[in-house]
Amino acid sequence: MTDCIFCKIIAGEIPSRKVYEDEDILAFHDIKPAAPVHFLIIPKKHIPTLADATEEDIPVMGKIMTIAGKLAKQVGCHDGFRTIVNTGRVGCQEVYHVHVHILGGDKPLGVMLGMPAL
Ligand code: AMP
Ligand code: ZN
Repeated sequence: MTDCIFCKIIAGEIPSRKVYEDEDILAFHDIKPAAPVHFLIIPKKHIPTLADATEEDIPVMGKIMTIAGKLAKQVGCHDGFRTIVNTGRVGCQEVYHVHVHILGGDKPLGVMLGMPAL
């Protein structure tokens, strides 16, 4: 995916502050942190959104979710964190390469969403 900013990060064409990398996934700090700790975990395969994930993506998506806690602890989330996957227009997704946000730090994060529900 030549036009995808996260594919470019995976290819090393755009720099990132890496948290973790293996053959399937990459984790790196968000460029505009919304919490004291804010990093993203992405599959190396270009999957545009969570709604595009298929059965063949179960192993990589499972790996992302099960490594999240370990990585979060390593970068300063010692008592919990929040995971967010924005999907599509309604989810206000900006980058169309599926990614899991990990947000945390020392203090509780506050409200779940930035706008009131209904
Ligand atoms: P989303 O709205 O879920 O698609 O979020 C995309 C996230 O990617 C935002 O939090 C951005 O700050 C982040 N982001 C965009 N470009 C970069 C980049 N080059 N390096 C790190 N994070 C980025
Ligand atoms: Zn991509």
